[in-house]
Amino acid sequence: MAGVKLAILGGGESGVGAALLAQANGFDVFLSDRSPLNEKYRARLIEAGIPFEEGQHTESRILDAVEVVKSPGIPSTAPLVQQLRAQGTPVISEIEFAARYTDAKLIAITGSNGKTTTTLLTYHLLKSAGLTVGLGGNVGDSFAGQVLTTKADYYVLELSSFQLDDMYDTHLDMMVLLNITPDHLDRYGYNFQNYVESKFRIIQNARPDDTFIYFQESAPVLTELAKRQPVVRQLPISLETNVAKGGYLADGQLVATANGQQLTLPQTETTLRGPHNAINSLAAILVAQSLGISNEAIVAGLKTFTNAAHRLEPAGTVDGVQYINDSKATNVDSVFYALSSMEAPTVWIAGGQDKGNDYQQLDEMVQQHVKALVCLGIDNQKLLTYFAGKIPEIRESRSMEDAIVQARSLSAPGDVVLLSPACASFDLFKNYEDRGNQFKAIVQSMVTAG
Ligand code: ADP
Repeated sequence: MAGVKLAILGGGESGVGAALLAQANGFDVFLSDRSPLNEKYRARLIEAGIPFEEGQHTESRILDAVEVVKSPGIPSTAPLVQQLRAQGTPVISEIEFAARYTDAKLIAITGSNGKTTTTLLTYHLLKSAGLTVGLGGNVGDSFAGQVLTTKADYYVLELSSFQLDDMYDTHLDMMVLLNITPDHLDRYGYNFQNYVESKFRIIQNARPDDTFIYFQESAPVLTELAKRQPVVRQLPISLETNVAKGGYLADGQLVATANGQQLTLPQTETTLRGPHNAINSLAAILVAQSLGISNEAIVAGLKTFTNAAHRLEPAGTVDGVQYINDSKATNVDSVFYALSSMEAPTVWIAGGQDKGNDYQQLDEMVQQHVKALVCLGIDNQKLLTYFAGKIPEIRESRSMEDAIVQARSLSAPGDVVLLSPACASFDLFKNYEDRGNQFKAIVQSMVTAG
């Protein structure tokens, strides 16, 4: 690839990883980011002697490239991307680029919700069983960077629809599709079918003896599969029927069957709670079984897994009330599962920036579990109007501190206070991590104060 011009749009983790990998393979690399670079990435580029710019795009240098690697954050409607496409320059994702330089088996995980949990758990099961495995995509270090520096036999990749949009030829050995619910529609022309098709790009290069694992009660997944009839080994996951091959939950037991191997385990013996996590766990177990990992090793991994923060994360107990941080629940579907995981009367903290939420699908769960709602947002009107008369107590707050004070006054010993906002955080917080960290810090200070 000596001297071949490659441009990279976006200088975050994936862009810088791709730049380093491209340089090592002899490309003439130029990285361009319209915003200022993070100090760590700037230093890495300087150290490697890779030419870059920040705060602008010099179009001539980018349009001159033979191929362009684009960060998933840049929409395909960006004028520069449109120009590249119009002149026939391939625009690909960092995953597509890096996959060319590894022979490792690729396990890819997508879905509207549950990607990170399932990716981390799958990685943990493979790693604790002794496989040489890397973790990439939307989580952790870039895939490209790892392809350059480590020799893994397997990679577990979390793929967003944005990454899938810029993938064309990459062959994935195992594919997991957890669910499809409306999300990110602003990037898909407000057309849900476009988003569904983006998610289904995960099986675009599937071969007959590859493995495709999916949740069969996700209606858009099932409809699309019926249309496409893909020729690939399929392992469905169900919460409703006892599938012969694949995974299901029955009477609290996880049952997974793949590769001539069956595992049965009470979900309470794993570290993840709730029906959504049964789906995630079954997906990870089926991957592990398909790779020939023993049930014994899988069970050991399930017992030692710690999920990433802000996903139904216990934050502490005060006056007999358990506080749970589910700040990552930024859409209604994830709140549905959070509420259905509750085993005690729940004071629910919700609100923020609404992304066009339809709260109707929460009616039954709210009726079963929620005793009070504390709205936490600058504009709470939609929540207030929708749940008026449906939840006995509804309050408003505009800071995390106030939300917790109110939730505390509404709770009794044995209750749960659940932060599961159904909304983005950007009205009052920097991001969902900031929102969850504030929640945890205040709860911890109450624990300490006794
Ligand atoms: P993602 O990476 O797709 O955003 P996470 O694992 O970070 O997924 O979880 C995000 C939110 O979605 C959490 O609030 C979690 O409780 C919820 N969730 C996790 N798994 C599922 C699932 N399989 N279906 C629906 N909601 C889920």
